[in-house]
Amino acid sequence: MLNIVLFGPPGAGKGTQSEKIIEKYNLTHISTGDLFRKHLSEGTELGRLAQKYMDEGNLVPDDVVIGMVDEKIKENNTSTGFIFDGFPRTVAQAEALDRLLEEKKTPILGMIALDVPEDELKTRLLERGKTSGRVDDQDIQKIENRVKVYLDETLPVANYYNGQEKFTKINGVGQISEIFDNICEVINTY
Ligand code: AMP
Repeated sequence: MLNIVLFGPPGAGKGTQSEKIIEKYNLTHISTGDLFRKHLSEGTELGRLAQKYMDEGNLVPDDVVIGMVDEKIKENNTSTGFIFDGFPRTVAQAEALDRLLEEKKTPILGMIALDVPEDELKTRLLERGKTSGRVDDQDIQKIENRVKVYLDETLPVANYYNGQEKFTKINGVGQISEIFDNICEVINTY
């Protein structure tokens, strides 16, 4: 199975690139942010629980996120591979993902990290906020908090995969198609 983690700060282009990757490699997309937003729009208990964290740009507790991903992996048990987008966001989530995949005897083959400077991220998120309807994209303080949470809690996840020799960094600034070609070059080595 082709299991990939697409990594990067908010606004790095993970969603955009994921769409292209799943189409080319026929993978199942697991975006925890999208899953939470779906729960929110459907008014589920999980959605209500996640909302207060999301609105402020804080992380939803690990056990909630891990439970949701576990369910999604099990729902797609005939899949030929997964792309994890916006997950794992903490080292505890990365360890849990390894355990979940161990049950399936199919590891993460690599993490691809999109590298984008902080100023560019803020500009992109504010621009996205004009059309995305996401409250967390519309307020510079919330955006700054999301970037801070990324630096404090999520960046150590890159070291986790680096320690397993599964980490590759890609320049996330440029033409979408060019960035995609660079990602494919990495995936093709897996
Ligand atoms: P995203 O769409 O990936 O930017 O996620 C939007 C929000 O959902 C984040 O700011 C968090 O509040 C929450 N979220 C998404 N994925 C995770 C995760 N893996 N761990 C904790 N919270 C998450």
